[in-house]
Parts: sequence; structure tokens; C-alpha cells
Amino acid sequence: MAEVLTPDICVIGAGSGGLSVAAAAAAFGVPVALVEKGRMGGDCLNFGCVPSKAMIAAAKHVGAIAQASGFGVTAGAPRIDFKAVHDHVHRVIAAIEPNDSKARFTGLGVKVIDGTARFKNADTLTVGDLEIKARRFVIATGSSPAAPPIPGLAETPHLTNETVFDLTECPRHLIVIGAGPIGLELAQAFRRLGAEVTVLEAATPLAKDDPECAALVLDRLATEGVAIRAGARVAAVRGSDGGVEVRLDTERGGETIAGSHLLVAAGRKPNIDELGLEAAGIAHDGRGITVNKGLRTTNKKVYAVGDVAGALQFTHVANYHAGLVIRNALFRLPVKANYDVIPWVTFTDPELAHIGVTEAEARTRRIEFRVLRWPYHENDRAQAERETHGHIKVITSKRGKILGATIVGANAGELIGTWSLAISQGLNIRAMVGMVAPYPTLGEIGKRAAITYFTPSLTSPFVRRIIAFMRRFG
Ligand code: NAD
Repeated sequence: MAEVLTPDICVIGAGSGGLSVAAAAAAFGVPVALVEKGRMGGDCLNFGCVPSKAMIAAAKHVGAIAQASGFGVTAGAPRIDFKAVHDHVHRVIAAIEPNDSKARFTGLGVKVIDGTARFKNADTLTVGDLEIKARRFVIATGSSPAAPPIPGLAETPHLTNETVFDLTECPRHLIVIGAGPIGLELAQAFRRLGAEVTVLEAATPLAKDDPECAALVLDRLATEGVAIRAGARVAAVRGSDGGVEVRLDTERGGETIAGSHLLVAAGRKPNIDELGLEAAGIAHDGRGITVNKGLRTTNKKVYAVGDVAGALQFTHVANYHAGLVIRNALFRLPVKANYDVIPWVTFTDPELAHIGVTEAEARTRRIEFRVLRWPYHENDRAQAERETHGHIKVITSKRGKILGATIVGANAGELIGTWSLAISQGLNIRAMVGMVAPYPTLGEIGKRAAITYFTPSLTSPFVRRIIAFMRRFG
């Protein structure tokens, strides 16, 4: 007879979302099982955020050496040992790995089970011979790189975010399909580390971001020598290890681009194939598992969190989901995911960070709004750091409620945090004006943008009459 486990909560998938649910449940003393078929830590630690940021950090040093002479420091041409870059990336993964390890989670009181989970029916999950009948299940299986329907792709060796960090030699010419965050972050990093890079984008690069701010990123990439082709129609690919060809359909007929490596960064697909969702009555579509605002699936016992739940695909969203599920599953508190409070950052140089409503969205919503701006070049610290390229753009309601912010420039990813807090707390721009920002910091850019909300009142005859009236009192 099969062994049967009866934890309170059973989590499927040990990526960011699953680990957060399991750790929190265990901290409250709730019996919790966690099933993982691959590596603990999931995409973020092993193939995503962590290795990509480590590689970007290495590439940033190349950029810093190139710019050093502007500071009066000369370092000579950078010499890049790509194998050493590879080793640095993997040392960073190894340094973070213990936090997500089986040993740590077992120590926290989580029953960690290696294997592939599959629903047998609405209340039972199987892992090999084991059966798990939990009070609640949480699906946190994430997503994988999607393969676009390009003739020849399946037969042509190509990289994805799951394999690109295994390279120990820098590609001579990397062709990237897709100019979203993954494609462009890696395009810039590989360019700086010595590769020729061509990016092919079917539609618009960085289409989810404010186009005016995204343009600054695209200009910088072009200046650094990344060739970006927007509106490219990839007709077919072919090749073998070390030599690939991409055929494009263009207005003038066909065109072939030859490279040494192909990287596909054309979106993600949810990891749902092996879960037996039908047996458990869990609905899904091409974007992922269908959930309500409280992250419950069509099976009331089962939640879905993170990329597999089909919303914004970010590690911090998976963690946010995990917090909501814990509140609902353990304390029966009503919860509702609110995606208006979710920031995102593309870690190119310059960084591109956003939260809330964009200018284009404000126009389509037909609300009365204001756009407040401040450029980096008007900031003293930006001048000192020679980081004068960029600006902040803030969207407020007519009465000053902060609705959205986009920052493009140095440290934009750090600077967006203040605006995330403002939006999550429903603050008015007056709160930003009243904030004392330390001098000299890049953070003053936000405050200066906020002050411009009141610029029209400086020339208002009414305000001037009040000031004149007050003068009479000495
Ligand atoms: P994406 O969907 O953001 O971008 C993929 C791009 O590929 C799109 O612009 C699309 O038009 C293009 N594309 C699709 N098929 C194509 C084809 N046949 N030929 C040419 N172009 C094609 O996906 P992504 O960059 O792979 O990122 C996946 C997810 O991960 C996104 O939700 C992203 O926000 C998230 N992510 C975020 C960060 C970050 O926040 N820094 C980093 C990496 C990934």
C-alpha cells in the first residue's frame, strides 16, 4: 500500500514562490511538505535573476573601465577571461544556494520530497509511490522559456536562460531572438564582455515600458554596438554548434544573418504539463493556471502562485503571492492581489524601473492627470558620478495622487522603491515634497520632480495676492 502523508500544506515547486510559502508556514508551526523535481531555488537562483545580475555586474566593470578616463583614471583596455566570468557567476549562485537548500528547509521543519508531483484526484497528489492528502495545496512550479514557432528552431542548437550561463567561452557573434528584459539585459552584458550582438525583435523592444524612457536604454545599447532590429520577421533558422543562420523576411526580400550562437528570449510558458491538473479539476490556459484575485484555482483546496499563475512574471510577485496565500490559508483572512503596487526593473545600463500607471495608460483610461519630470543632469550627485543620462517621470492625478513612476538612469532600480511605497500607501505628491532627501544623492531627483507639481502656482496671481497681503503684517 502507498505511504500517505497528511500535511496541512503541500507546496509543489521550490522556486521563489514555493520556498516563501513553505518557510512562512513552517515558521508558524504548520506541518508543510515541499515537492521539487529539480534544483532547489528554481529559475531565479539557478537560471534567472541571480546569474544574470552576476554576469551584468561583471560586464559593468568593463563599462566602468571604458568610462574611467573621464574621471582622470586610465586603466588600459580591459582583458576579459570569460571562463573566470563564468566561475564568478557560479560562485554567486553557490553563495546564495544554502538559503534555498534542502538542508535549510528540512531544518526549518519542512518535509522536502524529491520527485515529480502529479494530482491523482481533487484531494490527492502523488510523488512516485507516495500519496499526499493535504488540507491545502500550493502550485508554484514557475515557467520555462517558450520556443517560438520558428521553422528549424527545434533542430538548431540554441541557448536559453537555462543554458546561457554554462558558456565558458564568449560567443563570437550572439544572435538574440526577443528584445524583452531577458534579451536586452543579456545582449548588453555579452556585448561588453566581447561578443558581437544582434537582437531580432518581432514587435517593439521593451514594449511593456514607457517608450520615451525605453528609448534611452535602446540608444545606449546602440551606442555600445548592440544591433537591434525591431519589427524583424524571423522566417527560419538553421545551423550547428558554433555556426547559426537566421533568415529574415524583409520588405526587400530575404536576408540572412550569420552568427556563432543563438539565444532565444521570446517569452515564457507555464510549467503545468506534468501536474495532472484535469484530474484535480484545475482550469488553465496558455498563460497559466486560472486563479481568482485571492490566488485560488478552480479547485478550492488549491492555490497557484508565481509565474505559473499567469500574472506578472517576477520573483517579487511570487513572494508577494506567497504572503497572500499564507494569510488566507492559515488565518482565513480575505486577500486580493493588487498588481498596481508591483514595480519592475530592467537591469540594463541605464536601468529602467517602473511602477503603476504609465503616461500611455493614463491617456487610455481617460483620467485627468499630470506628468512631472526631472532630469539626471540637474542632479549634483549625477554630475559628480558622470551619470547624467536619464530622467524620472511621475504620473499623478489632477489632485496630486501618485499613480505611477518610471525612472531611467543610474540606480533606477533602487530609486523606484520610494515610489513603490508611495503608491502602495496611496500617497499624494505633497508627501514627496515634504520628504527631506539627503544631499547629494540621486534620490533628490524624485523630490525635484514632485516639486514641479506646484510650479504653476508660483506664477498664479491668486497666490501672489496672498503673499502681498501677508506682507502687510510685517
Ligand atoms: P518578454 O515577453 O518580456 O519579451 C519577449 C520578446 O520576444 C517580446 O518583445 C516579443 O515580441 C519577442 N518575440 C517573441 N517571439 C518572437 C519571434 N519569433 N521573433 C522575434 N521576436 C519575438 O519575455 P522575456 O524577455 O523572455 O522575459 C520573460 C518574463 O520574465 C517577462 O515577464 C519579464 O518581465 C520577466 N523578466 C524580468 C526581468 C526583470 O525584471 N529584470 C528580467 C528577466 C525576465
